[in-house]
Amino acid sequence: SIVVTGATGALGRLVVGELLERVPADRVAVVVRDAAKAADLAARGVEVRVADYDDPAALAGAFRAGDRVLLISGSEVGRRVAQHTAVLEAARAAGVAQFAYTGILGGPEADFDLAAEHTVTERAVLDSGLPYTFLRNGWYHENYTGQLAGVLEHGAVLASAGEGRVASAARADYAAAAAEVLTGEGHLNRAYELSGDTAWSFAEYAAELSARTGREIRYASVGPDEHLAVLTGAGVPEGFAAVLVDVDRAIARGALAGTGGDLARLIGRPTTPLGDAIEAALA
Ligand code: NDP
Repeated sequence: SIVVTGATGALGRLVVGELLERVPADRVAVVVRDAAKAADLAARGVEVRVADYDDPAALAGAFRAGDRVLLISGSEVGRRVAQHTAVLEAARAAGVAQFAYTGILGGPEADFDLAAEHTVTERAVLDSGLPYTFLRNGWYHENYTGQLAGVLEHGAVLASAGEGRVASAARADYAAAAAEVLTGEGHLNRAYELSGDTAWSFAEYAAELSARTGREIRYASVGPDEHLAVLTGAGVPEGFAAVLVDVDRAIARGALAGTGGDLARLIGRPTTPLGDAIEAALA
């Protein structure tokens, strides 16, 4: 089977949707921690295997010999090395044929806080000896367009990324790439640097929002300390706020600006323009 973890998350749902357009449902399985959230997938004929990343005993039954597996990185920052390692160990013990993993653009070169768990996970995958595919995902457009309500309310895009650029793409683009490597051939023991075709600056993003809404939306370019204060003031927990500020520091250094074209090549079309994601969010 082709097995997708995190299948009830935003990316995972899109990956499963892409897979079901390419292969019969009885070839697709999902690993989820909450079977109820996957009821619609079961109804479509997808096999639902239940396991939490924190439960090695349950994970031991989650994979079969010959499966092509996609581990979608977890969302519980700080706990992910243990979780990903547990998934990997279960997949290794089962003897899966492919272990694909959604890492971060730049792989081991990505030197910011949020990248650390991905780097350790990739190292463990290499050490496992399993045939791997690294999907090193850049940023989603939706990281930004998902915040539009607040941006419109304040008339400003606030960031501490300076003039740094972001080569984001739609979640759906990354999902199509994942489906491609899980169903196609020639992707074993390869790392893909996945990012959008175009890198934009926050000033350009604000200008684009202004043009599309007909309202004046400026780029509030702040320093790291002010950014941290704004985030914590808005209720973001201190630790996560620091991670977000560190991301902007990385963007300022150009860490998420790469436009190498792997994503467009894998999906066989240009990546979704940021403007499309803005329109979708405004609709
Ligand atoms: P979501 O938060 O929507 O999905 C995360 C998925 O992981 C969910 O299905 C969740 O299960 C599952 N999960 C989390 N913890 C566990 C656990 N302990 N056991 C089993 N399953 C677990 O994120 P997205 O789909 O948007 O993104 C996928 C991943 O990509 C994120 O988890 C994160 O690692 C990374 N990411 C990448 C970004 C980027 O811009 N490239 C931005 C944000 C995140 P459940 O459905 O039950 O909650």
